Amino acid sequence: MDKWNLIVDVPLCQNCNNCVMATKDELVGNAFPGYTAPHAAHGAAVIQILRKVRGSMPMVDTAYLPVMCNHCDEPPCMKGDSSGAISKRDDGIVIIDPVRAKGRRDLVAACPYGAIVWNETEELPQNWFFDAHLLDSGWAAPRCESVCPTKVFEVTKVTDAAMAERAAKENLRTRNPELATKPRVYYRGMDRYDHCFIGGSATAVIGGIDECIEGATVELQRGDAVIARSTTDAFGDFKFDNLPGDSGPYDVFLHHGVHGVAQRSVTIARASVYLGSIALGDP
Ligand code: SF4
Ligand code: SF4
Repeated sequence: MDKWNLIVDVPLCQNCNNCVMATKDELVGNAFPGYTAPHAAHGAAVIQILRKVRGSMPMVDTAYLPVMCNHCDEPPCMKGDSSGAISKRDDGIVIIDPVRAKGRRDLVAACPYGAIVWNETEELPQNWFFDAHLLDSGWAAPRCESVCPTKVFEVTKVTDAAMAERAAKENLRTRNPELATKPRVYYRGMDRYDHCFIGGSATAVIGGIDECIEGATVELQRGDAVIARSTTDAFGDFKFDNLPGDSGPYDVFLHHGVHGVAQRSVTIARASVYLGSIALGDP
């Protein structure tokens, strides 16, 4: 059977919040019986944009991660005493029943992703329910997809086997796979958000002035193995990206045919590292 999935292209998100506002526009003040009571105008939204700033000045970048209910196939939110307040449809969508879930604030904590928000006015836990009311009336995609200017979202309704094959082929990832919840929201390019870089800037003294050195060869080593190579740009900069967090020690070797060599040792813990200016010189 075909089921709904959402693919989120992380590097394309610009944090414009159109998706957040369109979802609020759809749900705030509007009841859709069988799907949801009106959502709250204020407080936590059911789609949120997380932000990660990497590096340090002047080598800094920012990534944005749209997050929402993952419509897990092994949903922890249904494993405790949800008493029918949360259900999973045959097409994969997880719905919080606006009648049965009344007063069930405890369900907010049942989601390890923080994807269930509490609506104080309605006294209801609520999630992003994939705009199932629209899909059921013939829409091809939820509101968030149609308003995103950079086409971050792709909605696909396919069999689980076809989705698993596509995820493997396109290196799509899900959030917190260690939780074994089997999310139906997949991310492309999530390394941009949760992986690290090592960067730096090659310099040399020319005519008594520190100058940026373009064209230096830079090698990234783990132990004795060179795992990546790069060349400094016109500003002397280099960057090795997509390194796993907590991946430990690396060595960076720089070499330029005229200006000499340099070496730095660095350890990647949870954050990216900018090594600053690295002066080339005699071996
Ligand atoms: S993301 Fe949270 S609320 Fe959504 S299905 Fe998974 S456990 Fe339930
Ligand atoms: S609408 Fe698109 S670009 Fe804007 S915040 Fe949402 S996902 Fe990101």
